[in-house]
Amino acid sequence: MSEVLDYLIVGGGVVGCNIARELSRFDLKTVLCEKECDVAMGTSGRNSGVAHAGFYMIPKTLKAELNVRGHQMLPALCEEIGAQYNVIGKLVVAEKDDEIPYLLKLKRQGEINGTQGLRLIDADEVSKIEPNIRALKALYSPTSAILDPFQLTIGLAENALINGARIELNTEVLEIKHHEDYFTVETNKGSYKTRNIINSAGLYADKISALAGVEGYRIYPCRGEYHVLDKGVGHLLNTLVYPVPPKDSGGLGVHLTPTVDGNIMLGPSADYINEPCDLANTPDVMNQLLDEARLMLPALKRKDFIRSFAGNRPKLIPTSSNETVDYVIKEEYEGFINLVGIESPGLTAAPAIAERVIGLIKKRDELIEKKSFNPKRDKPVRFSRLTDEQKARLIAAEPAYGQIVCRCETVTKKEVLDALHNPLGAKSINSIKIRSRASMGRCQGGFCWPKIVQLIEDELKPELKDIRLCGAGSNMFIGKTKDLRRIK
Ligand SMILES: Cc1cc2nc3c(=O)[nH]c(=O)nc-3n(C[C@H](O)[C@H](O)[C@H](O)COP(=O)(O)OP(=O)(O)OC[C@H]3O[C@@H](n4cnc5c(N)ncnc54)[C@H](O)[C@@H]3O)c2cc1C
Repeated sequence: MSEVLDYLIVGGGVVGCNIARELSRFDLKTVLCEKECDVAMGTSGRNSGVAHAGFYMIPKTLKAELNVRGHQMLPALCEEIGAQYNVIGKLVVAEKDDEIPYLLKLKRQGEINGTQGLRLIDADEVSKIEPNIRALKALYSPTSAILDPFQLTIGLAENALINGARIELNTEVLEIKHHEDYFTVETNKGSYKTRNIINSAGLYADKISALAGVEGYRIYPCRGEYHVLDKGVGHLLNTLVYPVPPKDSGGLGVHLTPTVDGNIMLGPSADYINEPCDLANTPDVMNQLLDEARLMLPALKRKDFIRSFAGNRPKLIPTSSNETVDYVIKEEYEGFINLVGIESPGLTAAPAIAERVIGLIKKRDELIEKKSFNPKRDKPVRFSRLTDEQKARLIAAEPAYGQIVCRCETVTKKEVLDALHNPLGAKSINSIKIRSRASMGRCQGGFCWPKIVQLIEDELKPELKDIRLCGAGSNMFIGKTKDLRRIK
């Protein structure tokens, strides 16, 4: 408690982790507090994983500016931190004549915002790009891309860590007291003294703001439900396919999103809810998503669904009916920087948001760059993507690559061990899953969870009752009935 930090960041989503990495370029004491068991457990791990090219945003807003800038920054950033980034293009499809004006509006908007290469194309060209998609016309955006939001956020956090920032997991900010030239921040794990606070608490940013004495923001969560399709149908789609969204919808309409790992995601819906932590999937929405998606991709079947999840959009409530709701990124008073209402395209805009925050800080503080800053983080091995020769070489050097733990995703024991011994010290089953992809396939862990649990037991020797799916309260066992067959 006697130590005084320079910056305390609240929230380990993609925005907080990006800011932590940017601050780690300078000679500063920075701590990021995340209440969950790992980074990317909030909205940053519950979205479409799309790097938006910038044509959806209303021109001259901060959202538009930071979307386009973030989209420009992401390829180099992903390369540096070892996260996959695939440019696959996007089609916004019109199925009826009266939807075509919306495509023209998006094109005009995108051109003002600085989106490159937008073209209106007809049904013939649509079917050349996407043989399985039905459309009358489409807006084609060749620079739209996909990424793995977990890889991106984890990569940022790990890179910030090796450059000196501290990432404190399972650490919930509960109280903030403002003194003359510093703050005390109470958490469930103890107190911090800090000269500055950066609030990037996502769905809870209004509450953190109020704790720091800035009242008046209110976030209304808008839930988006998704279904993940089996890799077996991944070949049905080459690009991102979005519809013309329904009027006054809280999102971009139910879209079809290929993932960097070869699945397709279907969703999200848009329903305003009361609790930010309500992440339910509902049968009505499942039917609605399937019906809407089949209008574009008739070959879709319910039996192809392997997993459902939901993410909540942190919608900022406007203070008047004619206000355009935009991102709030500002220093409310000296030492307290607020980021509120960071909804879509926050994943894309995150590097530009961090750049803007550093810009705010540089207006009043001199930041001294560290010569030792290392922007690189090695890409984790994905055994399943290697050639047979590469696999053989790895197995010869490290026999744990020769044992498959997750059959559906062909994840090896070595990859699971690397995930388990991650630099952030995250120890849950979900932490292993989001790093290695073990249990992300069709059986969803039915086959590999017992093996993963054995590896956790062997490596970390925890009490059985302390093995968790994720954070507090997600304990998986109360005791042992018999010994499982051991993996050697
Ligand atoms: C359905 C959906 C689809 C989307 N699709 C896209 C897309 O395709 N492309 C795109 O660019 N954007 C997309 N977005 C938006 C994007 O996901 C978000 O804008 C972005 O993830 C916000 O990141 P964040 O770091 O601000 O928030 P979060 O990821 O929510 O991080 C905030 C963190 O703060 C932590 N926290 C909260 N309170 C406390 C506390 N008291 N103490 C400590 N920690 C705390 C939370 O646990 C959380 O981890 C989508 C969003 C949704 C909901």
